[in-house]
Amino acid sequence: MVEKYSLEILNRPDLFYQLINNMTDLVFLTKVNPDKSLSYVVLNKPAKDLYGLTNESFGKPIEEVLPKNAYHIVKTKYEEAMEKKKPIKYEDMVTVSHLPQNSNNEVIYWESTITPVFNQDGECTHLLAIVRDLTEQREKESEIQRIKDRFELVWNSVADVMFTFDKKQNIVSVNKAFEKLLGWTAEELVKDKSISIIPEDGKEELRKIIERVKSGETVTTHEVKRITKNGEIIYFLGSFSPLYDQNGDWDGGVVAYKDITERKKYEDMLKELALHDPLTGLPNRTYFSQCLKLEMEKAKRTNLVLSVFVLDIDHFKEINDSYGHDIGDEVLKEFAMRVKRAIRKNDFLARIGGDEFVILIPELTEKTNVMEIADRIQQCLRDEWIIANEKIKITSSIGISFYSQFDLEEKTLFKNADLALYEAKKKGRNNYQIYNKQETSLL
Ligand code: GH3
Ligand code: MG
Repeated sequence: MVEKYSLEILNRPDLFYQLINNMTDLVFLTKVNPDKSLSYVVLNKPAKDLYGLTNESFGKPIEEVLPKNAYHIVKTKYEEAMEKKKPIKYEDMVTVSHLPQNSNNEVIYWESTITPVFNQDGECTHLLAIVRDLTEQREKESEIQRIKDRFELVWNSVADVMFTFDKKQNIVSVNKAFEKLLGWTAEELVKDKSISIIPEDGKEELRKIIERVKSGETVTTHEVKRITKNGEIIYFLGSFSPLYDQNGDWDGGVVAYKDITERKKYEDMLKELALHDPLTGLPNRTYFSQCLKLEMEKAKRTNLVLSVFVLDIDHFKEINDSYGHDIGDEVLKEFAMRVKRAIRKNDFLARIGGDEFVILIPELTEKTNVMEIADRIQQCLRDEWIIANEKIKITSSIGISFYSQFDLEEKTLFKNADLALYEAKKKGRNNYQIYNKQETSLL
């Protein structure tokens, strides 16, 4: 069949020329003469147009009909194809002004395929060169490259950390800010999938965010905590957007993180200030209330005893009056330190007023344990006090209440301890009293 079609074409040279002249590719069929010189036997119109060739050019050695620089390249490539005995492909770039498609003297990119043709004796008789104009394709490519370069410039210039991840949630690309802030390079992250910037306590939250992104949602202004290569924590405001492939299928996402560590530190500082007493550094009344609420809920669940101690320094006014307010402050600080030493780590000591302190003592197995604790506190206070080079005596009265089987309100629990404290003061100070449901008396 193939043979038949070939013969038909050979019998119809008009059709053959019509065909090749209508090709956009340039066709050069070159004959290798017995003296090894080369001459053209077939040229299509675009081929002729490239070098201004005419019918006169046929039969002449190509070095006579081609411009010098073109001849040099063509000769080298033809020889290479003859030597290799197989088709070769190469790209070339020329500036030609006489071509109709290139009146602006622009650069034209060519891709040439040279196929050597051999006779039965293995001698190369012809060379077929098909030359394709790649200019449009190259221009498109360089336009794409320009866009890519521009994108990369923007990607790497933004101050925010940015990265993309794939469907398996592996990081695919990261920007310079990512490398700078989080310390990992894209290469490291792509190579080692076990690297994680997500702290353990942030994994569940991230899973939920990814679920939302997967369903097409953009999750913005989400506060997250991430770990750097050095193990430091950075706080970010993150936004997570889905990415789709050409078919419109979900293909991972892009993430932008705005560093809010400084703001977070400031907020934490404000929080710290709002919840702590500046003089002793202890939690203040607000913090105590929050903590009391939580501990009451816990006690309800666990059935363990929660106790509240209210401490008030005895005759503290006299210290202020005798030694001055500054010394009074020193006493308050020392008092806080001593009481802290006398209690467990889990116990919560707060300063709730001038010389008034409170301790939350959770998880007591027996109510009587509070007596030991109260004794320990008073023992601590009995140790020698030297303030402003003078030995002074500091004692405290303590009121104690319990939260266990009674479903008390926070206020009542605190009020009961206060009542017990009042009782302790009444009983001559430097002692502790435990609130009893019926009356304020010892257990
Ligand atoms: P009592 O045994 O009845 O408790 O007598 P007291 O003198 O300690 O009386 P009270 O507890 O009512 O007085 C506490 C005093 O603490 C009153 C106030 O002048 C003083 N005070 C309150 N805050 C501060 C403070 O921050 N620094 C100093 N130095 N004194 C304070
Ligand atoms: Mg007092």
